[in-house]
Amino acid sequence: MKALVYKGPRDVRVEKVPDPRIEQPTDVIVKITTTNICGSDLHMYEGRTDVEKGKILGHENLGEVIEVGKSVSRVKNGALVCLPFNVSCGFCENCERGYTSACLTANPGNAGAAYGYAGMGPYEGGQAEFLRVPFADFNCLVLPEGAEEQQSDYVMLADIWPTGYHATELACLLPGESVVIYGAGPVGLFAAYSAILKGASQVMIVDRLRDRLKLAAKIGATPIDDSKSSPVEQVLELTDGKGADKGCECVGYQAHDPNGHEHPNMTLNNLVQSVKPTGRLGVVGVFPSEDPTSKDSLEKQGQIAFDIGKFFEKGLVMGSGQTNVKTYNRHLAKLIQTGKAKPSFLVSHELPLDEAPEAYKRFDARETGWTKVVLKPGMAEAKKGQAASAGHQK
Ligand code: NAD
Ligand code: ZN
Repeated sequence: MKALVYKGPRDVRVEKVPDPRIEQPTDVIVKITTTNICGSDLHMYEGRTDVEKGKILGHENLGEVIEVGKSVSRVKNGALVCLPFNVSCGFCENCERGYTSACLTANPGNAGAAYGYAGMGPYEGGQAEFLRVPFADFNCLVLPEGAEEQQSDYVMLADIWPTGYHATELACLLPGESVVIYGAGPVGLFAAYSAILKGASQVMIVDRLRDRLKLAAKIGATPIDDSKSSPVEQVLELTDGKGADKGCECVGYQAHDPNGHEHPNMTLNNLVQSVKPTGRLGVVGVFPSEDPTSKDSLEKQGQIAFDIGKFFEKGLVMGSGQTNVKTYNRHLAKLIQTGKAKPSFLVSHELPLDEAPEAYKRFDARETGWTKVVLKPGMAEAKKGQAASAGHQK
């Protein structure tokens, strides 16, 4: 089959690799029809992880089940399924409590596994024609009738929408409250989208990329451009000097100032200042346990200079970590099915798999208009030439 393979920093290629096969009786094989490039993939792409060369990337996957292991009983051949990025067993003590992001079975010796990701177990990714799905009865979200026509909506359930939603859950956001979100990438935009669906009274979102801020305004959030003035002051101004009730971190360790200089503690400390006393912070941006290529000596060891004094004085609470996608994907799917949500609003490009290397380059450069790339491994050859030049821009 064809798959997008990591070859080294800023070098990914579409190559012929062996087809995946059923390895355990609980596996299924999925023919991938829709798969996204994620901001998390860019950490690997930029050489900021220890991902091994040869890994097939891709953890936001949707497709058709074409082969079913002997012990799979719920999921049938032909079903259209969306896969949570977490690979989880369903029976360990963490999965039992709903913490599928910390499965103790799928990546022995670690808590948590994922497709096509550094340090998350031996699983290949789905930016490919086919994908092996372990513990399939537990992991597959079987999509309802009609989903085939709405794959660019449903594929957002694999990671990026539940992750934005998770940020608001970690922050315990309630209807009527205000929230400030740092980062208007796909995760931040989905945190804003989720906050609006939950009935937040005011949703402020900080970034400096105008196209992303424009999209934020389009879905009803208040954009804050931190290249113009201090984002903290702008939030205080918008909240009568009080600060937001809740805050979400949707940037992670590669946070930088508008001039491009990295400050891994920037968004967390800005949040501490932008959220009112007794507020809560939901941190879903990734902070790795070590980052040897960072120029910051603390960050090299996975540490940051955090404003713990201010955090304590304000009595803030912080939740963090990978999303337990299964906690949210089923009910978020219902919002798509009933027409109450349309998460494909984010999609800027739908491209064939062959165009993935170019798409990585442009999404990584945060080029204007490249908000979310959806890859279609089955996209007709005939369409390819047309899509290659400009992409299918919505
Ligand atoms: P992205 O890189 O496309 O978006 C990040 C955005 O943050 C960019 O628009 C950038 O301009 C902005 N930004 C950078 N520095 C900033 C600052 N100081 N203040 C405000 N904005 C700033 O990535 P994404 O896909 O939106 O992902 C965001 C983070 O979430 C990444 O770290 C990703 O790895 C992580 N993530 C976590 C999970 C999880 O389960 N917890 C899942 C998916 C993604
Ligand atoms: Zn992702």
